[in-house]
Amino acid sequence: MSERLKGNILVTGANRGIGLALVQQLGETPGEEGHIYACCRDPQGPGAQALRDLSTQCPGKITVVKLDVSDVDSISSAVQTVSRIIGAGGLNLLINNAAINRPETPAPLSACGKTDMMEAYETNVVGPFLLVKMLLPLLQKAAAMDDTVKGNTMSCSRSAIVNISTLISSIEKCPETFPIAQMYPYRTSKAALNMLTRCLAEDFRRHNILVAAVHPGWVRTAMGGEEASLTPQESVGGVLSILTSLSNKHSGMLLDWQGNTIPW
Ligand code: NDP
Repeated sequence: MSERLKGNILVTGANRGIGLALVQQLGETPGEEGHIYACCRDPQGPGAQALRDLSTQCPGKITVVKLDVSDVDSISSAVQTVSRIIGAGGLNLLINNAAINRPETPAPLSACGKTDMMEAYETNVVGPFLLVKMLLPLLQKAAAMDDTVKGNTMSCSRSAIVNISTLISSIEKCPETFPIAQMYPYRTSKAALNMLTRCLAEDFRRHNILVAAVHPGWVRTAMGGEEASLTPQESVGGVLSILTSLSNKHSGMLLDWQGNTIPW
């Protein structure tokens, strides 16, 4: 459980898998200091029942927001909703977690077509890109608060963007990972997400907004499959503990759930 992440936090793809576990553990953080904007495509649908239950169990801590990251109008309307609720507070942490990995593993070249490539790029890269663009004023607001105390120190409790990436996005690690999982659309889109991470880190350093990419480990979810080594709770426990320790020197890096640096 995270003891130190505070403030307003937005998580995408929050209705199942790692996103749901993130909201669950963030919701357990003691105190009234934070609020979680748990975003998902269909808040009223059966796939969001667990998230709705969680929101009921943590009264006042979680707001469920409708957001399809592949739809620009949906992003715009979710940002308007969150801005309205947050008011002057600003957004302290955006976790870009939602993603797709199609077709199913191992996704060799012969199984992948244009649609798979475009959809992966739209959801895994363009979605986070647009969300960051539209949320920037709120992230800047949080970063600027109490500036005299915080100086140029960056942290996930001040203002940060965390992009959930993957080990198999690493170009350097490709000789090791490719034989296990080809997944052309997924790994190329996540490599692009890494470059987005790096660009935003350079761009936003002047605003004191930290930007990092995190690999959550191999996790037992619909995407990770039954054979995966970690439960969502184990993965998220590690991820949140890493997030609490991030500072200026981590901005622009790809780290795993245990804090190890992954080469680009
Ligand atoms: P799941 O497939 O279990 O969950 C994916 C989530 O993303 C769901 O909530 C899904 O919502 C949401 N989503 C997909 N498309 C969209 C969209 N267009 N708009 C909004 N939400 C969307 O995946 P995981 O929980 O395993 O993965 C979470 C993150 O972790 C991803 O970024 C993934 O790449 C990364 N990761 C996972 C690993 C693993 O082993 N599981 C390993 C490395 C990285 P819906 O229910 O509506 O489909």
